[in-house]
Amino acid sequence: MNNFQDVLEHIAHNFKSVKDRGTVASYIQELAHIDRNKFGMHLIDAQGNHFGTGDSEEAFSIQSISKVLSLSQAFAIMGDELWKRVGVEPSGDPFNHLSLLELENGIPRNPLINAGALVIADILISHLENPKADFLAYVKSMANDEDIAYDEVVAESEKRSGYKNFAAANLLKSYGNIKNNVDDVLDFYFHQCSLKMSCRQLTEVFYIFMNRGKCRRGNAFLNINQVKRVNAIMLTCGFYDEAGEFAFEVGLPGKSGVGGGIVALLPNQYCIATWSPGLNAKGNSKLGMIALEQFTTQTGLSIF
Ligand code: GLU
Repeated sequence: MNNFQDVLEHIAHNFKSVKDRGTVASYIQELAHIDRNKFGMHLIDAQGNHFGTGDSEEAFSIQSISKVLSLSQAFAIMGDELWKRVGVEPSGDPFNHLSLLELENGIPRNPLINAGALVIADILISHLENPKADFLAYVKSMANDEDIAYDEVVAESEKRSGYKNFAAANLLKSYGNIKNNVDDVLDFYFHQCSLKMSCRQLTEVFYIFMNRGKCRRGNAFLNINQVKRVNAIMLTCGFYDEAGEFAFEVGLPGKSGVGGGIVALLPNQYCIATWSPGLNAKGNSKLGMIALEQFTTQTGLSIF
């Protein structure tokens, strides 16, 4: 099979009868209502051709996938100074783990665990005039898509139950690695996580990481060396304590979120997104992981 559309449809077709689809995240109340049977898969190639199947145009909560986008904006603003505030080592621990923070003197191990993303949120608040609006505008401009929006209900829902994030933010503040008001940082963070996008929109937004930092209109968001670094962080830190497994099975830089989305890319060739809300024991979309393994195995298109 050499046609992307055929490969996507073949994978999606085989999933229709699968019963064991994992568990939908319920610690954020609003996410618990999502239909487990949803499945979407979408690909954009370097020339901008789109291929999609299933629920690939339905928007869902991208959650932790947003951490790559806030990292990108903070990196573009601060350059390598950023790495004084956050590290680049995989944690090998779940996304909300707190102990590593203590060991590293308030410097989170990487920007894709929650503690690291909270520091990035703090940096953006320090630099942006209207942080939530400016971040949203940045994401919209990456995709040239005005329809991307925060989901206020999901953001409020997480605010009511995000105790570990409150704890992490306060711990970071005690070390001096959060400069702004803790509540403002958390409000920004819960909003960025609540961003709603479809698989199709995700491939458009993440196109810049596949295309040396430039969006489809040719505007540069990051330089080539910065994209190299963000892709390296996705590869080593993008899948909680399953980053090794994702590199082993799929072989692409990418990022997952507890909303059941995964986005991954092969530099200069394609960007692909999947959505299946049921998660495996490590918090990654169960069918999404399998679908991407099948995709890179069937096409032979991975970074390895
Ligand atoms: N907003 C979620 C949290 O902080 C993001 C989790 C995720 O997608 O990994 O718990």
